[in-house]
Amino acid sequence: MLLFEDVTKRYPDGTVAVDGLSLEVAEGELVTLVGPSGCGKTTTMKMVNRLEEPTEGRILLAGEDIAGIDPVLLRRRIGYVIQQAGLFPHRTVLDNTATVLRLLGWRRAPARERAAELLDLVGLDPSVHGDRYPDQLSGGQRQRVGVARALAADPPVLLMDEPFGAVDPVVREHLQNEFLRLQAEVRKTVLFVTHDIEEAVRLGDRMAVYGHGRIEQFDTPATVLGAP
Ligand code: ADP
Ligand code: ADP
Repeated sequence: MLLFEDVTKRYPDGTVAVDGLSLEVAEGELVTLVGPSGCGKTTTMKMVNRLEEPTEGRILLAGEDIAGIDPVLLRRRIGYVIQQAGLFPHRTVLDNTATVLRLLGWRRAPARERAAELLDLVGLDPSVHGDRYPDQLSGGQRQRVGVARALAADPPVLLMDEPFGAVDPVVREHLQNEFLRLQAEVRKTVLFVTHDIEEAVRLGDRMAVYGHGRIEQFDTPATVLGAP
């Protein structure tokens, strides 16, 4: 579903963030990208939805070079969840989610109906939480809304950049479990960035272990942990 072919990213200041990276992610697979800060994980993600362009190499989405896909259309096929959920502060939780669908041309009533279903899917009660504003939610609840929004357009691919990094360990474990249940249901192709090796092991079908700008190991968690 996602194929990186010998991808290098050199920023204008000369920093080589990603260095000859090749990676193949199967449809419905959840791959965790794990490694210390600054090793190129976020840059890898940004190239998938064309927030950054590779300097060399190419990235294929379902066999199609993404360099030829209009970024706006591309982002409809790719959901993005970040550490600070990035919600609109002056819109309710339900509106935050419905807005994504309105932008895709949905009419108001069906958009709100679908938004309520999405909130339910991520473990929020639309009749309780739907009318709240983001600052009236806990950190974990905000991240759930972030996931609901990313799923709204039903994209085949989800990019998650430390989505549970800002919540406390107990909530994080809860969110991880919920996300695994959700993923079993929706089966998205997921790239999931974390610097937490335990999280990478728990969530990943396979994990890509980063060194500086490179993937040093790419295998199932059991194999990575069992490696000498
Ligand atoms: P993370 O480790 O999650 O990427 P950072 O604090 O390192 O968080 O980076 C935050 C943002 O700043 C990211 O979007 C990253 O691409 C950008 N960034 C990181 N390093 C630099 C840099 N040297 N120059 C410009 N932008 C940078
Ligand atoms: P990670 O997500 O693993 O923390 P990043 O992809 O954010 O790593 O960053 C990889 C390297 O690229 C780091 O050295 C970072 O400082 C640098 N970097 C990230 N964004 C930029 C940018 N916009 N301009 C210059 N350097 C950057």
